[in-house]
Amino acid sequence: MDALSTPVLRISRAQLACNIAAVQERIAPSQLMLVMKDDAYGHGLEEMVDASLGAPEPVAMYGGYDVPTSLRIRARVGDGPRVFAWATSDPDEVHAAIDADIDLGVGTAPYLRRVVAAASAAHVAARVHLKIDTGLHRNGFRPEEWADAVAEAGAAERDGLIELAGVWSHLAEASDAEDDEAARAFATAVDVVRDAGCRPSALHLTASAASWWRPELRGTVSRVGAFCYGIRSADGPVIPGTLPIATLEARVVDVSDDEVLIGAGWLHGIPSTLAGMPAGTRAGAREVVRIESAVSSVRAWPGARIGDSVRLFGAGEWGERDATALAERIDTVGEEILTRISPLVPRRYS
Ligand SMILES: *Cc1c(COP(=O)(O)O)cnc(C)c1O
Repeated sequence: MDALSTPVLRISRAQLACNIAAVQERIAPSQLMLVMKDDAYGHGLEEMVDASLGAPEPVAMYGGYDVPTSLRIRARVGDGPRVFAWATSDPDEVHAAIDADIDLGVGTAPYLRRVVAAASAAHVAARVHLKIDTGLHRNGFRPEEWADAVAEAGAAERDGLIELAGVWSHLAEASDAEDDEAARAFATAVDVVRDAGCRPSALHLTASAASWWRPELRGTVSRVGAFCYGIRSADGPVIPGTLPIATLEARVVDVSDDEVLIGAGWLHGIPSTLAGMPAGTRAGAREVVRIESAVSSVRAWPGARIGDSVRLFGAGEWGERDATALAERIDTVGEEILTRISPLVPRRYS
């Protein structure tokens, strides 16, 4: 066998479609917004959009975070599904988003004015989702600014410049009590919008964990990234019906009596602080003793040979752990393990 000196990220399109179906079934009648920021959490944006089209039920909405990503999603999915971009963006991006029928998340007054001005110039009503800050303090109109924001958006809607398509917020997901309080603030904000005579159809508050575990907090739309890629929450259980869609695989490049070297290291995006983690081999889990720049050493197993595969994370068939289990060792989340894998590491899709 050939001893490739770089690892490969193997990604299952079919598993993405299965995970999407499991999430859709769980959250119904709330509709799935498949969140695809950071190159679909490091899995490859275009490939993952294509794979999502294989889900048994169509994905109602895609979440691109920034406008450039959302434009790439639109180019791939065609005209049907909604695409949502919530990063505050410059006028050129706003124009491009309106042209491509992208829904815009708006959480500040200057940004609302920028979107209204762009829509006015384009003679097209921009679809806007107003964001209320329910306690996370990451963008969003503060409760004391909300009535004015709604009045301004309502006037723009009556003038045909925007369609107030949604109201949204983001939860801390740190404790149920905090999330309950945020949900009450969200409900109050929605009441203000309805009292102003607006009828937004998309109400969305929850990401993976709350969408799955807190049905009472789900809106008409649930924004889910992690669980669709099979990434569970830190300290959270495996999500039934889902599996990690990505496996990071390296090859043995050298064998000595008690250690083997594999062709994967921190320059491929594996944090060196993960030394001590288990890796999966055909003989089961073995400790990764050191993580260097381009290679790492792993405790040997009987019959280890150059070219053998070793799995650093994935579904756990050979004793490897999922990305979240690695993340827990260094106090981060599975998403960070995935998004740090270097773009130079080849992705192989099946
Ligand atoms: C990333 C993100 C999500 C998705 O979170 P997951 O935990 O990956 O499901 C949802 N909403 C917003 C605003 C986000 O930035």
